[in-house]
Amino acid sequence: MPAAERDRYDIVFVTSEMFPFSKTGGLADVLGALPPALARLGLKVGVVTPLYGRMKAEEFDPRLVSSDCHVGYPWPPITAEIYQTEYYGVTVWFVSRDEFFDRRQYYNTYKGDYFDNCERFTFFSRAAVEWLKRLGRAPRIVHVNDWQSGLVPAWIHFLKRTDPYWKDTRTVMTIHNLAFQGRFSSRLFFDSGLPHEAWHMDGCEFWGDFNLLKSGIAYADAITTVSPSYAAEILTHEFGCGLEGILNKRAGSLRGIINGADYDVWDPKRDRYIPSCYAADRMTGKMWCKKKLIREYYLSDMLEHRPILGFIGRLRRQKGIDLLIDIMPEVMAMNVGVIILGEGNLDFEARLLEMMEEYQGQLHVIVGYTEELAHRIQAGCDIFLMPSRYEPCGLTQMYALRYGTPPVATAVGGLKDTIVPYPSDEATGFTFARPDSRLFRDAVRDAVRCWEDSECWDGLVRRAMASDFCWDRSAERYLELYRDLGLAPRQDFLR
Ligand code: ADP
Repeated sequence: MPAAERDRYDIVFVTSEMFPFSKTGGLADVLGALPPALARLGLKVGVVTPLYGRMKAEEFDPRLVSSDCHVGYPWPPITAEIYQTEYYGVTVWFVSRDEFFDRRQYYNTYKGDYFDNCERFTFFSRAAVEWLKRLGRAPRIVHVNDWQSGLVPAWIHFLKRTDPYWKDTRTVMTIHNLAFQGRFSSRLFFDSGLPHEAWHMDGCEFWGDFNLLKSGIAYADAITTVSPSYAAEILTHEFGCGLEGILNKRAGSLRGIINGADYDVWDPKRDRYIPSCYAADRMTGKMWCKKKLIREYYLSDMLEHRPILGFIGRLRRQKGIDLLIDIMPEVMAMNVGVIILGEGNLDFEARLLEMMEEYQGQLHVIVGYTEELAHRIQAGCDIFLMPSRYEPCGLTQMYALRYGTPPVATAVGGLKDTIVPYPSDEATGFTFARPDSRLFRDAVRDAVRCWEDSECWDGLVRRAMASDFCWDRSAERYLELYRDLGLAPRQDFLR
């Protein structure tokens, strides 16, 4: 094989978040795990991601590899700096430009989205394309994620007409959440460098606006989303967020591949954040985690003998936090404890803090984002709550299963694909059919009753902990997709 061919990247991901460097949610967890899993399969993998102000890149010692990556955007054109590091066999390139990325938050402040998000992520996406151009050989697959990198497939599609460099590159777009589309004024389309012919209802245009996610859906060679159920749901008016039309047109190129859970990070047997590790056959550690949680959050001692219910997630309607608020008085009457970790909508935050006053010793709410605490809640609680209105995949329920904290969840999207509902012999958790307060309350009641019956509970916990959503299996599914797009096996790998 000629040297240049061997050095060619099989897959390069473009993403606005990657754990452990940056994270606001599940997207980061996926990008922290899938690229290394593909590298383990023998592929040559890279990731392009922004260098944000508050990120943990320093400890990975990134080195400057270009101080003059000409992005040609916005006008007058500016350059990006590119830093490089290695992460579990994957090359990671950081796009740096302080006025765009050196901010406290990635996308918004508590007042709302940054006014220049379109410029920021158009710049990022163009910098990614310019950087890939400098590699000497175009990656075989460019795999983009969510609206922040949605323009990349569109550019590559049009560049192919004039630039043979991209001739045999294929693009994949993964939708992690269809509700976030990156919808901006049409004026910004005309500055983006895409040709006018992309401005139509099967291209980048969406009801007169510029839609970055739609741009990716329209021009990527393949589209994926993060669970089979969500892949079917987004074709409907109810879940399609207005994009069901274009998704139905592209349905032949759409597939659902369930995310994995990164058990190197989320496993109670070796979790460095929890007070005591445990496993299905050594559960005393979990009791200790529960005790510590009770002490730490001033919950009543009597809760050592009652179940504690946990919620971790963005405090948004998507996550059904309003349903939990609705049923809180009835949940409290079940004599259980509740711990909530999250941030998001200010009204929900305020309401929950008020409720915490009302139910002192029984309800604790932590407004904020703390990775470490998320682990301790998974470990210390008995039951995990996830009443989402929709859930593309959901990772927290997979972690909850592994931590022996059976979930109570709406039967939607990835929740439906990962939880076997009670009362089957195979049950690993509890689901309810629709995001409805009464159905949710009934499912919580079922869970508490099952907890009270140690035989029922022990079996459920054992099966939950045995559920296996390892990334290697999901990575195989992505590999199948890449092969279908023409990715040839690496000869040096098969040798
Ligand atoms: P989504 O991506 O929709 O936010 P997921 O369930 O797919 O939801 O992933 C959420 C990820 O973010 C999990 O790793 C979860 O532990 C983490 N997370 C969410 N909210 C918080 C928080 N307030 N503090 C710490 N981690 C959080």
